[in-house]
Amino acid sequence: MLHLDVMDGHFVPNMTIGQPVVESIRKITRLHLDVHLMIEHPDHYVASFVQAGANSVSVHYEACRNLDGTLGTIREAGAMAGVVLNPATPVAVLEDVLEVADYVLLMSVNPGFGGQKLIPYVLEKVRKLVSLRREKKLALPIEIDGGVHQENLADVVRAGCDWIVTGSAIFHSADPETTVRQMREAAAHATAVQC
Ligand code: ZN
Repeated sequence: MLHLDVMDGHFVPNMTIGQPVVESIRKITRLHLDVHLMIEHPDHYVASFVQAGANSVSVHYEACRNLDGTLGTIREAGAMAGVVLNPATPVAVLEDVLEVADYVLLMSVNPGFGGQKLIPYVLEKVRKLVSLRREKKLALPIEIDGGVHQENLADVVRAGCDWIVTGSAIFHSADPETTVRQMREAAAHATAVQC
């Protein structure tokens, strides 16, 4: 899948892309477009990102006044609804809302910029979320975003992540295609070892 980071210059200092760019990307690929909204008032925009072609849209817990309602709006618009937690937000806040989410994205860096290092305690949050998911008998994917590269990929997979976002590790490598292939193989191997 392609993970698209949308930043508004308010929720995070940086600004990136909006709906027209998502629409343009939609025209050139059939890949799943996973839109991660790092914006204020995401409830005002989620439906327009689905219309632009997003297959999944995630919103920050920290930016939502009515998380349940916003996740519902994403689903009604026809996409998977994800909830994102910043590193300092505990997994426990999701206890009651987990049933109405289709996936959870845990930020493993503070959002806003690429090229940061993975914050180690986030792997403990992944494990906590895995047990919460088991307790609730849910199968929703756990996604991780920030600082994942070839050297720590196996740790991230073994902690329980299902969807792994990598930016710099791929785009700053000499041969992005080979890097993607190697990372997919390493992730599959780590999963096999885990099972
Ligand atoms: Zn992201």
